[in-house]
Amino acid sequence: MRETDSLRRFLFEEAPLRGHWVKLEDAWSQARAHQDHPPAVASLLGQALAASTLLAACLKFRGTLTLQVRSQGDVPLLIVQCTHDRQLRGVAQVREGAVITDDAGLAELAGRGTLVVTLDNHDGGEPWQGIVPLAGASFLAADDWRAGGLLLQKLPQTQSAGEGARGRMLEIWDECSLLLDTLGGRELLDTEPQLLLHRLFSAHDVRLFDADAVRFSCRCSQARVNSLLLSLGEDEVKEILDEQGSVAITCEFCNRQYRYDAIDAAQVFADAPAPDLPGSVN
Ligand SMILES: [Zn+2]
Repeated sequence: MRETDSLRRFLFEEAPLRGHWVKLEDAWSQARAHQDHPPAVASLLGQALAASTLLAACLKFRGTLTLQVRSQGDVPLLIVQCTHDRQLRGVAQVREGAVITDDAGLAELAGRGTLVVTLDNHDGGEPWQGIVPLAGASFLAADDWRAGGLLLQKLPQTQSAGEGARGRMLEIWDECSLLLDTLGGRELLDTEPQLLLHRLFSAHDVRLFDADAVRFSCRCSQARVNSLLLSLGEDEVKEILDEQGSVAITCEFCNRQYRYDAIDAAQVFADAPAPDLPGSVN
C-alpha cells in the first residue's frame, strides 16, 4: 500500500546515526486548499511543512514547534507549525505584484530574511526561541500533491566508544550524506520508505520503525479570535461595525471565518476579564 501522511524513524545498526522520513499528501492538500500561490511559493510552503515535521520529530517536547521565515523579498512571511503529536498547519504570504518564476528557491523568494524556530510548551514552560542546533543532512521536496523530506542525524557517541568507532561513524556519515545529495525530488516523493532507504543506503543495515500519522489541523477557536478582537480595542471594533455592519476575522491557516455583529462584539467586551490592577496578586 502507498504510504502517505506518515512519519518514520530509522536507525543505522552499526553506527550512532538516525534519520526521519516524512511524506504528506492529504495534510498538504488541506493545508494549501485555500492558498492560491505561484508554484515556487507552494513548493516552499510544502517543503517547510515537511521540514517542521522532521524538526519536531527530533526534539523532545509537548507543544508546538513554529518555523518562521520573515523577509523583505517576494515572500515577506512564511509560518509553519507542527505539534508534538504531528498536527500541521502553515501559511505563506506573497508580496502584491510579485513576479515569481517557477524555479525560484528560498534565496530568491526570501533573500536576506531571517529563519526562526520557536518551541512553545503546552505544559506552561518558558517558550524557547532560536535556531535549532541541527547537525544533520536533509533533503526536502514538494509538488502540487505531495510534500516530503528525509533527514539524517548523528547521535551523541558514548565516551567508551573509542576512536575506532568514532572514525567508522564519520566514514558512514560522510558516505550517507553524499548519497543523500544524489536523491532527486521526484524519487523522494514517488518511492516508498523501505525501498528508498534500501536504494540509498544498501550497504548498511538500516532499521525502519513503524509509521506515525501526520495530519493537518488548525487550532484556531472562538476563544482565540475573541482575544484578537479584544486586542483591537473597543473603539476600533466600533469603527469597523459602523462602516461594515460586522467584523469578520478569517483564520489564515484554515480559512475559517469568524463574524461578529454589534451584539456579539459587545458581548465579547462585556465578558472580558477586567485588566489587572497594579499591585494585584497573580
Ligand atoms: Zn484556523
